[in-house]
Amino acid sequence: MAPKQHSTPLSGRRSQGIDQGVGAGPGAVTTILAARSAEKRAAGEDLIREADDLLCQSWNERMWADGGPVDPSPSIDQAINADYPWLEIKCSRCKTPRAVDLAALPHVATAYVHDLAGRLRCQKCRKAGKRPAAELLQLWQRSPIGDGT
Ligand SMILES: [Zn+2]
Repeated sequence: MAPKQHSTPLSGRRSQGIDQGVGAGPGAVTTILAARSAEKRAAGEDLIREADDLLCQSWNERMWADGGPVDPSPSIDQAINADYPWLEIKCSRCKTPRAVDLAALPHVATAYVHDLAGRLRCQKCRKAGKRPAAELLQLWQRSPIGDGT
């Protein structure tokens, strides 16, 4: 029986293994296509990670050089994906510094880093009955403060 014809080109030409049909029936084609899909997906994920990385660097640069604005910012998931899971903040009132582990923070997929300014409250000021916003400083690959809290 002749090998089954497929209209889907593999890199524009058919591989020898498939044409010869030596133990390479339609199941082998399925396996090759699935493997190629996995390769393409991995390559795509690498590109997305690179794009997320550039976005985090761009935001860091703006915050560092110009002090803001914080919006637009990467999404929390983009920062985590780019391996920038730490956000350095300080209290806008008492200036207490803090590093926030974004991965440990409950958040929705659509949440952006700049959304956190109003959410991250200073414990010290809270005890004093104040609720100042956090100043967002930088995204980091490792905790800039060390204790990670
Ligand atoms: Zn404070």
